[in-house]
Amino acid sequence: MITKTKNYEIRDDRFRRSVKLDEAIEQIWTGGRWTEGPVYSPAFRCLIWSDIPNDRRLRWDELTGAIGDIRSGLGYYTNGATLDGQGRIIACEHGTRSVTRIEHDGSATTLASHFDGKRFNSPNDVVVHSDGSIWFTDPSYGIESDYEGFQAEPELDGEHVYRLNPETRIITKVTTDFACPNGLAFSLDQKLLYIADSGGTRYQSGERHIRVFEVAADGSLSSGEIFAECENGVFDGFRLDAQGRIWTSAKDGVHCYHPDGTLLGKIFIPEEVSNLCFGGPKLNRLFITASTSVYSVLLPTTGRSLV
Ligand code: MG
Repeated sequence: MITKTKNYEIRDDRFRRSVKLDEAIEQIWTGGRWTEGPVYSPAFRCLIWSDIPNDRRLRWDELTGAIGDIRSGLGYYTNGATLDGQGRIIACEHGTRSVTRIEHDGSATTLASHFDGKRFNSPNDVVVHSDGSIWFTDPSYGIESDYEGFQAEPELDGEHVYRLNPETRIITKVTTDFACPNGLAFSLDQKLLYIADSGGTRYQSGERHIRVFEVAADGSLSSGEIFAECENGVFDGFRLDAQGRIWTSAKDGVHCYHPDGTLLGKIFIPEEVSNLCFGGPKLNRLFITASTSVYSVLLPTTGRSLV
């Protein structure tokens, strides 16, 4: 039986202990145009995210609620971001069409900007494997107009997913059959890689799904069957919790999928969701970037640690 409240929908009883039906959805910031790239720093007790069209990167202090600008107005137009094993922020930048790492001394290192001598389109989202490899998607959203980057012609032959070895800086193309690869995340054992295709943003009949690939020891991908079809909008960014469930963005909020592909339930958010991450000292607070705002909700479940 489906249970539906103002903020939650339970499709499957396995979801009942993953949300609290009386828990409020909190808006912690608003005033942006398109928020994205949420990443929580356990060391600094803060959430960092982007407001891409305004070329802003913002920081919310969990202890004081203070908001601050970081790396804003410099033409980076940062999109998806994550932490590597050392807690450094790895981010996708539309403006520089690259993947960068913020070092502990505050400097930025460009990790990937070209493939076969050609500039990337506009790296969109990124995940780090425990072996240190950095996997990212490269759709062309950030160069299609000046809205969230700088308009330019694509140099590459399509929109693909790439794996970067940060030691050797060797970049390998790992997919060739996506329309618009977008969010991505590994399964808990890292034997599977989930990748969203948001081709539906361009064509009514376009892709609106997450595919799941098997990851071989050499880093190549196989299989790639459809894991879930989005029933409202498209899937953009997503993360896993500590039980391997997938919490994903969608137009009406956050959708939660069991690893068996069942839609377990939803958290309704008043704006279109672009991405999310788990945070707080216990990783039991879900931070959600959605259109003009950032929301959070405390959960009786915990996210998977990134570090
Ligand atoms: Mg995205």
